[in-house]
Amino acid sequence: MICSVSDFAQPFALGGTPRRVIPLVLGYEPIAESMSLRGGDPSRFLLEPVTGAIVVYDDGWALVDGGFDLDAVRDPLLRAARYDYESYTAVVPPGDALAEGVAAAGLEWSDLAFCAISHVHLDHTGALRLVPGGTPVALQRREWQWLTSGIGRREVVVPSDILERDLDVRLLDGDTVLAPGFTALDTRGHTPGHQSFRIDLPGRSIVLACDAADLERNLIERIPCGWTAVPGDEEQAARSLERLADLTAERGVEVWPGHDPAFREWMR
Ligand SMILES: [Zn+2]
Repeated sequence: MICSVSDFAQPFALGGTPRRVIPLVLGYEPIAESMSLRGGDPSRFLLEPVTGAIVVYDDGWALVDGGFDLDAVRDPLLRAARYDYESYTAVVPPGDALAEGVAAAGLEWSDLAFCAISHVHLDHTGALRLVPGGTPVALQRREWQWLTSGIGRREVVVPSDILERDLDVRLLDGDTVLAPGFTALDTRGHTPGHQSFRIDLPGRSIVLACDAADLERNLIERIPCGWTAVPGDEEQAARSLERLADLTAERGVEVWPGHDPAFREWMR
């Protein structure tokens, strides 16, 4: 293990409040409707976007999730070992959507204050290949414990994306203010320590549901996703979905579902 790990002690050093949230579509993946929607059709596949977001402050920025490790996806052996399953594979457009998104926003990697990783599935951890050495990474303690319990391909996780990188992992216990206007929300269930993020912008708030709500239908119809990493966590996933659906009903709050191919913010 190369990364370091410690308890989260204090909010990351970013001044002021978040100025904007930049949505990122970093790749695509075929997902059976029944995985994203309880009761959905197991033989109907959606081509779902793999998403992330940049949160911009006056004096720096933060990254939420980050798609696949493109270097590994483009290596035939690593691709076969990590990303190709009978009914799942990584789909990536040409280029590097994350690097290009950061550049297009006029940001420098040296101004990245921290990464917030919703959970350790391989379509969320690949960005860590691009971050400067020693970058803090906020992860729930429950997720870290799962990550270091011997999981791997069967769980759709590439542990080395985190463990074998020069990162400064900070462990959270439930809801936590990470920086001014940037709060981690405990939405466990999809994985043991899944988290979502609330960003309070001037005049409105955005909640990045990540995989606690794949589709807008999950939120509007209050139907949970149809799958959890650990059997038996369905009740927790349903509670987390209810939490996010309640936020959707709050004035001035938008909840962005993590993998909805038709959601406006991912279609730009
Ligand atoms: Zn996931």
